[in-house]
Amino acid sequence: MNAALLVLVVLAIAVLAAIVVLLVRARRAVGSLEEPPSTIAPSPVAVPPEPTTSVEDSEESAATSLLDVDLDTEPTYRERLGRSRGLFGTLRSLRGRRSLDADALSELEDVLLRSDVGVATTEALVASVRRAAEEGTLDGGDGLLEALRTDLISILTVDPAGIPIDRHLSTAVRDGHVPVWLFVGVNGVGKTTTIGKLAARESAAGRRVLLAAGDTFRAAAADQLAMWAERAGSEIVRGAEGGDPSSVVFDAIAAAGARGADLVLADTAGRLHTKVNLIEELKKIRRVADREPGEVTEVLLVLDATTGQNGITQARLFGEAVDATGVVLTKLDGTARGGVVIAIQRELGLPVKLVGLGEQADDLVIFDPVSFVDALLEA
Ligand code: GDP
Repeated sequence: MNAALLVLVVLAIAVLAAIVVLLVRARRAVGSLEEPPSTIAPSPVAVPPEPTTSVEDSEESAATSLLDVDLDTEPTYRERLGRSRGLFGTLRSLRGRRSLDADALSELEDVLLRSDVGVATTEALVASVRRAAEEGTLDGGDGLLEALRTDLISILTVDPAGIPIDRHLSTAVRDGHVPVWLFVGVNGVGKTTTIGKLAARESAAGRRVLLAAGDTFRAAAADQLAMWAERAGSEIVRGAEGGDPSSVVFDAIAAAGARGADLVLADTAGRLHTKVNLIEELKKIRRVADREPGEVTEVLLVLDATTGQNGITQARLFGEAVDATGVVLTKLDGTARGGVVIAIQRELGLPVKLVGLGEQADDLVIFDPVSFVDALLEA
């Protein structure tokens, strides 16, 4: 009897255990259906790798490419060339047009002239497109824009003698020397701001930059430069208001040599306190900047893009006096007419090396002809 009771109890326990197992399984099945999607394990592909920048890498980039700092915030031509893109809008509207009439060519001429390309260059560009049209090699509006794009890029990348235009900014000096970049141009064009932007970018790239406040005409210019220097973490040498600009530049270069700076950026005045001829003063600054341990590797003519052809005439005077190596074209954003880039290249025979696309530190970029032309012509 006792044995029968034992068998019954064992059976009852087994049945109960089976019921519990079934219940747990059923519950798990319901639970997995209700699971929120966020609990799905992330795919390994979605996990970004750890940055692996080595010291060698950053040293190499610092040594080879000035301004080549990959800032996410760098502006694009397309977003900043407001007015210039507006001027080229009528040409962009030729896209998709099957046939071209005389009006299309006069439209082209009008746009180029209004955008400050200059008379001679406009005539050359229109003649080139007309020739292609007469030869029957232009395929409607798209063909016209393509031909114009090719011609514009060619003007901006190859000089009239067929030599590729060199836009690189040099810091190549003899052993023990400090490269010096001089910035010249009339008041208000943006020299001080450009130097400040460059200091910020070069410091960010790990270079030791020293600024020379050679614009002693305006105390505000030195103050403005000092503000940029502080922001950028670079050093500055300044003199008294109305002092001798050459001696400020000389002192700055001596300090740069003593402190082992990588680059000196020297501001100059667009006007002078004394009756000394400005051009003579600039020539003197250049000579002084070339004395040991300084070596002038760039003389950058700063031009305000909004002054168009007037600015070019002024710039010619400065450029010839100091043997400029290139142009910084500021204020290409806003109300500038973009064609002035082409006029400068043609009329001054100097490459536009840097362009200002706004007032912030990130708004100074190396001029890129293809992106520039595409921003004007692409929809
Ligand atoms: P400087 O007299 O040649 O040293 O000229 P400044 O550097 O003092 O600049 C004159 C004005 O132009 C300032 O208000 C700057 O903020 C402004 N500026 C300089 N570069 C640019 C630029 O690329 N875009 C715009 N929109 N303004 C600029």
